[in-house]
Amino acid sequence: MDRDLDAKLKTMKLSDNQTNVEENIQQGEGVEELSNPKPQREPWYKKLSGVPLNTRPASPYTLNPPIDSDGLSWPSLGARERLESNNEESLGREARIANAVRTILTELGEDTNREGLLETPERYARAMIFFTKGYEDNIKDVIKRAVFEEDHDEMVIVKDIEIYSLCEHHLVPFFGKCHIAYIPNKKVLGLSKLARLAEMYARRFQVQERLTKQIAIALSEILQPRGVAVVIEATHMCMVSRGVQKSGAITSTSCMLGCFRSQQKTRDEFLTLLGRN
Ligand SMILES: [Zn+2]
Repeated sequence: MDRDLDAKLKTMKLSDNQTNVEENIQQGEGVEELSNPKPQREPWYKKLSGVPLNTRPASPYTLNPPIDSDGLSWPSLGARERLESNNEESLGREARIANAVRTILTELGEDTNREGLLETPERYARAMIFFTKGYEDNIKDVIKRAVFEEDHDEMVIVKDIEIYSLCEHHLVPFFGKCHIAYIPNKKVLGLSKLARLAEMYARRFQVQERLTKQIAIALSEILQPRGVAVVIEATHMCMVSRGVQKSGAITSTSCMLGCFRSQQKTRDEFLTLLGRN
């Protein structure tokens, strides 16, 4: 337990250390490393923290390595079990979720035997399994055969990628638009894969800040580009439909790495292309 706390405290110091993020990005190593997870360069966060983290890290910055060898990339404890389930085990899981939902409905004052609710627990279980399907996605499958050598060194930007995610604090949806940009360093990723990458991380329990960072860090690991920028603008049901009830509130988060962080010109160009300047 002490060790967990220790690790957490150490990770808290990390998030401000951006110089190292840039260093990390500028080291030009390829994706081959993804498929052959052999001797690796010492990750910057490892140098800083001094101890390898054996628990799920508090921040994607401290995932070691940022894309783990099984490709799941910052999975949670039950993710592997879920991924490796056979058909029978999957049906068992669905049934257990449905039973839990029946309990919730009863506790909320409902009659789970009335017609409208008869199949609801099973339906909800299947819906939740779909909403969280990102736990079963492997980043290697997501980007498979879509990294290309290309001498392009201008900004690549994909705007308005729709994302649907679940807030891990209230288990209700947040959804909106994700904008991803990068400046290649001899490697580009098939454009549709940017959306797939966002989808993989969005279909998990999330906080918007982490989702933003995970997409940016994964992309910088895959391509080792000159820089990466990710902006997400989302509406949180937990915010608009309860509590403060600010129905128009949109939460924006961004993660800028490499030259997007170090060069204001690049950042401005990106924001202009987004129509935000
Ligand atoms: Zn929430």
